[in-house]
Amino acid sequence: MHGRASKVLLFLSGLGPAVLTAGWAWRTLPGLKDFGVASAAAAVSSLFAQNALVFLAILVILGSRARPVERVVGLDRMSRAHRPLAAVTLCCLLVHVGLQAIRFYSLGGASMVASALLSAELWEMTMGRLALLLLFLAAASAVVGRSGRVPFRFWKPVHLLTYAAVPLGLVHALVRGTTMADMPQVVVWGIVAMAFTGAGFMRLASVLGGRDRVLCRVERVVSETHDTVSVFLEMVKGAGRLAKRRPGQFALLRLPEGRGYSEPHPFTISNAPEDKTLRFTIKRSGRFTSKIHGLSAGDRVLCQGPYGVFCADALGRSSLALIAGGVGITPFFSLLRHMKATGLVVPTVLLWANKTSADIIGREELTAMSRTMPLRVVHVLSREKFLGDPSQDGLNVSYEQGHITAEILRRYLRSDHAFYLCGPPAMQAALLKAIRTVFGLKAKRVARELFFW
Ligand SMILES: Cc1cc2nc3c(=O)[nH]c(=O)nc-3n(C[C@H](O)[C@H](O)[C@H](O)COP(=O)(O)OP(=O)(O)OC[C@H]3O[C@@H](n4cnc5c(N)ncnc54)[C@H](O)[C@@H]3O)c2cc1C
Repeated sequence: MHGRASKVLLFLSGLGPAVLTAGWAWRTLPGLKDFGVASAAAAVSSLFAQNALVFLAILVILGSRARPVERVVGLDRMSRAHRPLAAVTLCCLLVHVGLQAIRFYSLGGASMVASALLSAELWEMTMGRLALLLLFLAAASAVVGRSGRVPFRFWKPVHLLTYAAVPLGLVHALVRGTTMADMPQVVVWGIVAMAFTGAGFMRLASVLGGRDRVLCRVERVVSETHDTVSVFLEMVKGAGRLAKRRPGQFALLRLPEGRGYSEPHPFTISNAPEDKTLRFTIKRSGRFTSKIHGLSAGDRVLCQGPYGVFCADALGRSSLALIAGGVGITPFFSLLRHMKATGLVVPTVLLWANKTSADIIGREELTAMSRTMPLRVVHVLSREKFLGDPSQDGLNVSYEQGHITAEILRRYLRSDHAFYLCGPPAMQAALLKAIRTVFGLKAKRVARELFFW
């Protein structure tokens, strides 16, 4: 369902540029061979500029975390699409400027290029230049921010200048462009302007209303394995939207930094939505997660969410195949704990890959669940031959050595299981292939969550 919804949204996003390009081609291509260099450069340049503007509006909508889009696509996918789309948008704008330079050069040489592109006489040109400048600043701020060298509170406001670039660019295009009032352009602009305004208002409402930001206090930090802890957060002033979270969803965590908060990092809420506290099970991987490991009772954490669509349809399925790699188990812990808490039980097989038995989080809890729920747990250990203890583990827990292979899939799963996969990209790619080989299921039949963007 969510895969299909994302495809529909992707199609609708591509529709604007497709309609613009088709309209442009219909009007321009028949006469293009008679154009001189200047007219041809101007025509192609306007096509790139118009598409860039549509991409820019989509970029803002993705970055705005607009709830109606988030609910069907998931914030993780929105965020992953954000960076490549930003690169495409900037490239389109550079082509636009480059072609305009060629146009003016062919009309009047270098002096005309300088006066047309740099002169302050035409206010609409100044707006275009300003939009471009803001976008470059926004892109640079994101690159610098991602490197971790500049605090979030400094680079984020610069990044938000993108919001101002859209109206500036649109006004520039409406005044300068010669085809902006033609059909179908005018319909596309109308839709783009409405979607942009809607996304902007939603972001503003979420910032001012604060329903998806919850101030939390660390209740306790519990060591799970040698590199993983569970952090339990108590919500200080009510749960906001987090009260209505679904199993498998994630939240953005921010730690106090200077007078504000750090950049947000996504983590799955690993306990059941019925629990009053929020539990995050976090593996140490870099700077931020190391700080999380250093938290202690009473520390403040800002939590935003819930987000994500992974596992949203799992409870309506007749049987589940949950496949996890390492800390990718967290959405499944949330789902299983929810099933346990509500008694809403779906027959489930959990295949979980780890390096060694020392990396297994919550082994006793899973074993206990496998005794009271229709749950089969298969631990697959790549660097250890471990057979478990049948007298302690019971009949529904088993151990395999190596990786999750086609052979293991065949042994424990069936094609009528609903498949859910959460683990590193290489593991996901190998398993999608194996699932297709063994059960003939295409990738779209496997719901997936990636732990980065
Ligand atoms: C939807 C989702 C759910 C997740 N759930 C969990 C979980 O339950 N437990 C867990 O241990 N980890 C989880 N992660 C991964 C976790 O967000 C990253 O490990 C963490 O942000 C890394 O930060 P770092 O500074 O410690 O490490 P770094 O070494 O700086 O980063 C390691 C990798 O994490 C990713 N990353 C870094 N910063 C961010 C950021 N601000 N936003 C998004 N990704 C980033 C990048 O791909 C980077 O290569 C989840 C990620 C996503 C997208």
